[in-house]
Amino acid sequence: MDGQGSWQGILYVRLTEMAIHLFLDFDGTISQADVGNELFQHFGVFEPVHSQLMNGQITVAEYYRTSVQLLRPECTPEAITAFALSQQLDAGFVPLVSWARRSSMMVHVVSDGFDVYIQPLIERSGQLGDVSVSCNTLSWNGTTFSVAFPGATESCSCFCASCKRNVVISHIADEDIAIYVGDGRSDSCAVEHADVVFAKGTLAAECTRKGIPHHHFHTLFEVMIILQRKFEEGALRPRRQAVLARKRAIEAE
Ligand SMILES: [Mg+2]
Ligand SMILES: [Zn+2]
Repeated sequence: MDGQGSWQGILYVRLTEMAIHLFLDFDGTISQADVGNELFQHFGVFEPVHSQLMNGQITVAEYYRTSVQLLRPECTPEAITAFALSQQLDAGFVPLVSWARRSSMMVHVVSDGFDVYIQPLIERSGQLGDVSVSCNTLSWNGTTFSVAFPGATESCSCFCASCKRNVVISHIADEDIAIYVGDGRSDSCAVEHADVVFAKGTLAAECTRKGIPHHHFHTLFEVMIILQRKFEEGALRPRRQAVLARKRAIEAE
């Protein structure tokens, strides 16, 4: 009896220790377009600052600070919300989050974009209560906006104002599994720290270049189908290089 009791105890502890976390980039992954780029094109002066960013002349944080200063007077919080709500999300977003939550996964939206358009779009999808959101903020003082980068870090020199790697390492415990879905340059340091990677766009090319195993995808429906199969087969496992990278990142912070 005693032996059986302690065996059940160990099994219980092991089952409750491991959690699966699903990290989703926002712009171009959850949303169809890059809403941040569209926003600065719509309300501000996109060039030459965007080219300066792409050429490496300025950092992402400098690009955002300059772009926000160049927003035109008609760009109010209300105008941004209305603009955000004109944007479309990937049709697979709601089914993916619903399935992940039913499967006891934690879902995190990780963006180097801004709360002012991410929040209303996720709220409209009905998923705001089911996901955590980590992103930059735009605050309005009644006349102008100011930017803040809550995830900024000195220990990573990635192409981000807020480093997504730190969102990954701060949410997951040693035993946990990190799944990451993204499409662009701001995702490239996070995927090195993720066990299962879904990539499209420039992120897919970056993963290939760096030798990071990944599933290429076009829509979040495809991500869900592949994840459902892996989940049922018990094939969501730690990736050794990601586990080591997470340990190094934690030591560096
Ligand atoms: Mg993106
Ligand atoms: Zn980083």
